[in-house]
Amino acid sequence: MTAAVLYGKEDVKIERVPIPRVGHGEALIKVQVALTCGTDLKVYQRGYHARMIVPPALFGHELAGVIEEVGAGVKGFRSGMRVVALNSAPCQMCFYCSKHQENLCEDLLFNNGAYAEYIKIPRRIVESNMLAVPSNVSYEEAAMVEPLACVLRGLHETNVEIGDTVVVIGGGPIGLMFIQVAKLTGCNVIAVAKRDSQVSAAKRLGADDVVQITQVQDAVDAVRALTPDRRGADVVIEAVGRPEAWEWAIDMVRKGGTVNFFGGCASGTKVALDTNRLHYSEISLKATFHHTPETVRKAFALIAERKIRGADYITGEAPLSRLQQVLRHMLNRNGDIKTAIIPGH
Ligand SMILES: [Zn+2]
Ligand SMILES: [Zn+2]
Repeated sequence: MTAAVLYGKEDVKIERVPIPRVGHGEALIKVQVALTCGTDLKVYQRGYHARMIVPPALFGHELAGVIEEVGAGVKGFRSGMRVVALNSAPCQMCFYCSKHQENLCEDLLFNNGAYAEYIKIPRRIVESNMLAVPSNVSYEEAAMVEPLACVLRGLHETNVEIGDTVVVIGGGPIGLMFIQVAKLTGCNVIAVAKRDSQVSAAKRLGADDVVQITQVQDAVDAVRALTPDRRGADVVIEAVGRPEAWEWAIDMVRKGGTVNFFGGCASGTKVALDTNRLHYSEISLKATFHHTPETVRKAFALIAERKIRGADYITGEAPLSRLQQVLRHMLNRNGDIKTAIIPGH
């Protein structure tokens, strides 16, 4: 089969590799679509991801397709079924799993290799994080379950309530999903974005106001000016993964408010925090990472109900053979949000 193999920093090759063999409890999916994701871009740029992928490795993690084959012992799935398989599954046995923090599982099993004609799904994912896709949901939309599940968990853990003023820093696919879901939740949403294309996407997905950082002297001041009595936002979600944005987030939140550092920075990154402001203003600092089987199912329901639509996020399509060019192009900050990679072309 044809598959993308990640070798390191900005080094992805399209190669012929053997089709994986399925063992007990496993499934083989013929990939219909694999979506590009901000995490993949980071991995491509940095050459690795501490938790998710160590090269050389098959690459890509947001996919939907048709079951080609199931191993012995698989229940509930058979060949020909349309499915979405998530990129990880928890062990359900460790301390963190018992605390409903499955995203922090001591033995979280990651699966990569969506940019390929076929992908093998390990038993644990088949059992806890593979879902049948109804015929009225497209493969493209089904593949958006993974990022959306991370976003739903992020908002839930931040205790966002109806009527809250929520600032979302970052106009990438994740930032845009936060904007849309916060708006659906009934929040007043202020987006902070950089590029023109991100500003228009943020407005389209429901942002009440957008601060374009290239158009203002001081982004923090511009955001505060948009909040009631300039007091700052109830909640600030950082969805960029850069230290400057982490620091902004703290300066944009109100007294007693909550910041969620959703964007993971490069390993070794440190930020400076004003301890007085944190202490005397009672700022709550949160960070959320990844998804749980519960948020995966909630995300899937939102997609099936068409509350979140593929056309809002998937702005292009390309054959697998062009993956490297697509990733390079996206690093150059063009207007694309997510690109659907189609294997077998
Ligand atoms: Zn992703
Ligand atoms: Zn566990």
